[in-house]
Amino acid sequence: MTDHILKKVDRDEALTPDKIRYLLELSDEKELQALYDCAYRVKAKYVGKVAYFRGIIECSNICIKDCYYCGIRKSNRNVKRFQMDEEEMVREAIWAFENEYGSVVIQSGERQDAAYIELIERVLRQIKAATDGKLGVTLSLGEQTEETYRRGREAGAHRYLLRIETTNPELYKKLHPADHDFEARKNCLALLKKTGYQVGTGVLMGLPGQTTDDLVNDILFMKDLDIDMVGMGPYIPHRDTPMGQAIPPYTDEQKQAALTLGLKMIAVTRIVLKDVNIAAATALQALEHSGREMGLKCGANVIMPNVTETEFRPNYVLYDNKPCLDENSSMCRGCLTRRIQSIGETIGFNQWGDSKHYEKRTT
Ligand code: SAM
Ligand code: SF4
Repeated sequence: MTDHILKKVDRDEALTPDKIRYLLELSDEKELQALYDCAYRVKAKYVGKVAYFRGIIECSNICIKDCYYCGIRKSNRNVKRFQMDEEEMVREAIWAFENEYGSVVIQSGERQDAAYIELIERVLRQIKAATDGKLGVTLSLGEQTEETYRRGREAGAHRYLLRIETTNPELYKKLHPADHDFEARKNCLALLKKTGYQVGTGVLMGLPGQTTDDLVNDILFMKDLDIDMVGMGPYIPHRDTPMGQAIPPYTDEQKQAALTLGLKMIAVTRIVLKDVNIAAATALQALEHSGREMGLKCGANVIMPNVTETEFRPNYVLYDNKPCLDENSSMCRGCLTRRIQSIGETIGFNQWGDSKHYEKRTT
């Protein structure tokens, strides 16, 4: 059966939800490898064997939201809150530019106040001026108004990443307090498209209570929404969160299962969505040292090395065992470059690496 489905993929035939579910439930080592190899062929055909770097700047852990899974949720009193100033953010972006990263992602907890929106706008304009418009910028600042999205776009950001987290509204309710609204988050994705961004979304995988059908629906949701980029990753418990406290830390076996699920989701998403950009999430590396390179071998084509200054990293911990907390940006660059080249891929230095899907849907 697996062979039969993968041959369909090689012939560019669409898969039914039943076949997508079948692939997500594979557990035999040989069949899994056949799935990963097939996804890699699809990647090579539609987006090439090039890994693009997005230097991630985690500029603030201040957040007005209280997602039950996240280590920097507003109710976690064990976090020392920080906000980088303008100069620090621009300095990190310039470091990324000078080190030939084609683009950066500016990510933070959610804040919707005027002072924060203005700060981001100023930073965007300064980055664009300092790099002669050459450094691409993705924003990942959570739910905002249409006006805020437009201002970010006009100030120079061209991509936005907002995970829907899960497309099952009932599960969404269990992961968030009552004032977090699934429909509002979904609507933000529509607003981002309307304002002209390349739009990225994704989900958490391996959530308590999540079923394979949920994951099938997640993939179909991303396809139906015609999104350009996928940023999804395994859920990993954080000890100071309500969800993390309800379950003991992962055993080695659970880590392995979470990693396999993460890799299967990347592979099947590549097979179904074909020409989008897919990031190999940092959370994969928290489960296995070479997790992100494994992600590339299963169909991902984007890696987000951390370019945040080391002093801030221990305060931006979303889940337990987040990697690279004590490394600096140069160490991240060097070690990742070697590891990616060792799997036979090239790195798209100095390129934005825009989603081929976006190029197609806009020309
Ligand atoms: N605040 C913005 C938002 O929520 O869209 C951006 C920053 S938020 C920290 C980025 C992503 O971190 C979220 O979309 C969520 O999926 C992920 N995240 C949070 N807690 C996590 C956990 N325990 N395990 C894995 N990923 C997690
Ligand atoms: Fe805040 Fe984002 Fe964490 Fe939710 S996932 S608590 S919005 S930083």
